[in-house]
Amino acid sequence: MIHIDSAFDSGNIKVERCGGPQDIVLTIHKDAASDFYQWFHFRLSGARGQACSIRITGLNGSAYPGGWPGYRACMSADRQQWHRAPTEFDAKSDGGTLTITLTPDADQVWLAYFAPYSLERHHDLIARIAACPGVRADVLGRSIDGRPIDRLVIGDGPATLWLYGRQHPGESMAEWWMDGALARLTDAGDPVARKLRQLATIHVVPNMNPDGSVRGHLRTNAAGVNLNREWAAPSIEKSPEVLCVRDAMDAVGCDIAMDVHGDEAIPQVFIAGFEGIPSITERQLALLGGFKTRLARISPDFQTAKGYPKARPGTANLAMSTNQLAERFGCLAMTLEMPFKDNDDLPCADFGWSPARSQHLGRDCLAAMLETLIDDLGGLMG
Ligand code: ZN
Repeated sequence: MIHIDSAFDSGNIKVERCGGPQDIVLTIHKDAASDFYQWFHFRLSGARGQACSIRITGLNGSAYPGGWPGYRACMSADRQQWHRAPTEFDAKSDGGTLTITLTPDADQVWLAYFAPYSLERHHDLIARIAACPGVRADVLGRSIDGRPIDRLVIGDGPATLWLYGRQHPGESMAEWWMDGALARLTDAGDPVARKLRQLATIHVVPNMNPDGSVRGHLRTNAAGVNLNREWAAPSIEKSPEVLCVRDAMDAVGCDIAMDVHGDEAIPQVFIAGFEGIPSITERQLALLGGFKTRLARISPDFQTAKGYPKARPGTANLAMSTNQLAERFGCLAMTLEMPFKDNDDLPCADFGWSPARSQHLGRDCLAAMLETLIDDLGGLMG
């Protein structure tokens, strides 16, 4: 007997029909109080050795229909290694249908839009990093459902760095990135980390949206609010997660900020800047360009040719965190985007973009930040 289950941390799927291994039809629940849907995560049981065809329908109405062509679903039997499964998308079938074909070699397999980073894993991460020498951990505030917004503070240098991710909870690669960056930052023998800890105080918020993460949302918090449209006027009613982080930033300032995301459609790693903010300076643009050049040299997974179009002068949306922070602090603020699919400039047939590659990118971004601090922000060091 085949079963499909999703009543667990970050689960999301609705069973429309389960008539046998070749007759599994599913849809994705919308984020609470909103129209966004794209994240899925479920367990398939009882299909060992049977050729299965899993169809997820109605995807032309999903948040990013451009995310499905060329996409391959993530699959795991042990919830440690996530392979890519053969996947096809047909926009003309049942309102847009993703068909995943697999023959499980285990009684139970998990399928997800991207390798999940559960809230339990988040708490393991916080506990592990908080136990490292010199790390301070605190709670900046609470989510709508009452979950803590955790911050880790590492280093004691004069520059102030902010790393934060998962405003969009379905972009779980963002917390894998945090996992890699935090491992490096707390590595006692890593020279990049040692120097960064001397030059900077690094504030890390690994998960801005714990409610959306647990609920299996793509894009919003428990109130159906897109947190990355709340930074101009966050409120305790709609976006306490942003309000508490922005207040903490106001308390200590910001020299470099990185907001970590995943992009559904573009098969590359790229950075979006703040070109359209009203008070932009040549200095800020030079910092942004310098950082991107360095990261492209350090990591073959990063590039600068493809990405979002830049906002025209004066047209930036100040409700988005990168624009708000660049305007508010006159600092270098960046939105880092990793692919759900793969980096097509350096593709991986087995895994596509993966937790391991997200972790490596987190490490490499720290190296680029250190170079930026030394070469471009030397004035901060007195
Ligand atoms: Zn995002």
